[in-house]
Amino acid sequence: MGKIIAVANQKGGVGKTTTAINLAAALAEMQYKILIIDLDPQGNATSGLGIERSRLKRCIYSVISGEVESEEAVINTSIPGVRLIPSTMGLAGAEVEMAGQEGREKILKHKISPLVFAYDYIFIDCPPSLGLLTLNALTASHSVLIPLQCEYYALEGLSQLINTVNLVKKRFNPELQIEGIVFTMFDGRTNLSIQVVDEVKKHFRKEIYRTLIPRNIRLSEAPSHGKPITLYDPRSRGAEAYRELAREVVEREKERKRIR
Ligand code: ADP
Ligand code: MG
Repeated sequence: MGKIIAVANQKGGVGKTTTAINLAAALAEMQYKILIIDLDPQGNATSGLGIERSRLKRCIYSVISGEVESEEAVINTSIPGVRLIPSTMGLAGAEVEMAGQEGREKILKHKISPLVFAYDYIFIDCPPSLGLLTLNALTASHSVLIPLQCEYYALEGLSQLINTVNLVKKRFNPELQIEGIVFTMFDGRTNLSIQVVDEVKKHFRKEIYRTLIPRNIRLSEAPSHGKPITLYDPRSRGAEAYRELAREVVEREKERKRIR
């Protein structure tokens, strides 16, 4: 059975989508079977994988609304071993529509449950809010992976997110774990980056990955070519960092299984 991991942080621009795509691609290089679910109405994961959104007939919204089964919404990407349930603009209205439904936090969980046997890892790329879509992602997931940008307010946003995770655990998904916290856009030349990492370490030492994702221009260029960094510039620092993160994710999983 595969593991469902929500990539979440209510702040925009912290590296959620970059992490979802590139971690997925790095795990696929290791021969794992991966599915990405683009749960952001902005659809950056979809376009970043080179999929033209306006041509799509089906997306995660068609799944949530019950129009199609989850399997029917899965499409191939240019990355071997990585498939995608894309997002279209239709998803923008989903939160409002779901709001009135009974069990509204569990809709996604029920819809995607058949997929869990076909993949090793399923990443849900969350929108930048703690609204109903993110609550659905957290309820549907085994764990949450949190990208943190090395900036002054990082810790503040993190406590708010952890509160939401605890709320979801209590009410909708007792099994939910913190997969890990990954620092993105790290710049070892600035004191701020180093200070932020040290500060977060005081509170979340266990959760933080050793791998620091550096600020790397190649990482920001890759989406406009519709490629993950591992294909766009396989030898770049960004590609190496996401491969290292992938190894760490797998290592943690093995360690957890050993302890259980
Ligand atoms: P989010 O999904 O959290 O909104 P993104 O992954 O889209 O964030 O990243 C925001 C912007 O920062 C994008 O333009 C992306 O290309 C860029 N970016 C993300 N990570 C890095 C990095 N490590 N180095 C340089 N640019 C990055
Ligand atoms: Mg995003």
